[in-house]
Amino acid sequence: MVPDHRSGGRSAVSGLRLLYHLYHILWLGIDLLLPPTCGGCGTPGYRWCPRCQQRVPILPTPLCELCGTPVSSARSRCADCTTVPPCFTELRSWSAFADPIRPALHRLKYRRDLGLGEALVPQLTAYVNQLRWAVDVLVPVPLGNSHLKQRGYNQAGLIGWPLSFALGIAYAPHALIRARETRSQVGLSRAERHVNVRDAFQGRLGLVKGRSVLLVDDVATTGATLSSCAEALFAAGARDVFALTVARAYRGLAFGA
Ligand SMILES: [Zn+2]
Ligand SMILES: [Zn+2]
Repeated sequence: MVPDHRSGGRSAVSGLRLLYHLYHILWLGIDLLLPPTCGGCGTPGYRWCPRCQQRVPILPTPLCELCGTPVSSARSRCADCTTVPPCFTELRSWSAFADPIRPALHRLKYRRDLGLGEALVPQLTAYVNQLRWAVDVLVPVPLGNSHLKQRGYNQAGLIGWPLSFALGIAYAPHALIRARETRSQVGLSRAERHVNVRDAFQGRLGLVKGRSVLLVDDVATTGATLSSCAEALFAAGARDVFALTVARAYRGLAFGA
């Protein structure tokens, strides 16, 4: 059992969990009215089918103790973290960025598959509990204004919002803002990615001061965006910043996040 270190106390935690159960029941109702198809393989009748759940590609171990990328030897840190350590306390990802997670996240990002975010939450909750991170507030990585206008929603929020309920921690989607627009990280080298997101975020004072943050995004590649977000959260007074992504693209897998 993870110790109850969360700031809201036991009643707030059980209130959030009750909300999560209601949200889950709401989705079961929506499924009856509008039968879904699986985000991973398209099988009718599921938002996330048991077959895809069994095929979730787990990251090969050992992992870098900081950024969670697979490392080939028993070294505790990858070469990148040894050269320039990232700002977050730790980054971990539930799966590798490969089938069936890859098409599922694509659907979440570009086809507004809200129900899929909810369907992945029980697995993500179990994963976070197993990491035993002492976190008390969830912050999703924010989208830039132009992307938000274009897409109308933030995919990190589709996962982060129900995940915060399930974990019984506060949800603070406004704790981070984009200080400037950035170009897409797709196709950029590691160094270019770091330059692209440097000082791109600002933490809002008061929302994370003295708190341990669970920073959430859909996919991590180099971790540059998460590191830049963590830097802004620490500047706003966060005590720790644990970063979680659904999936991880790493060397040996095709980049494309
Ligand atoms: Zn499936
Ligand atoms: Zn590393």
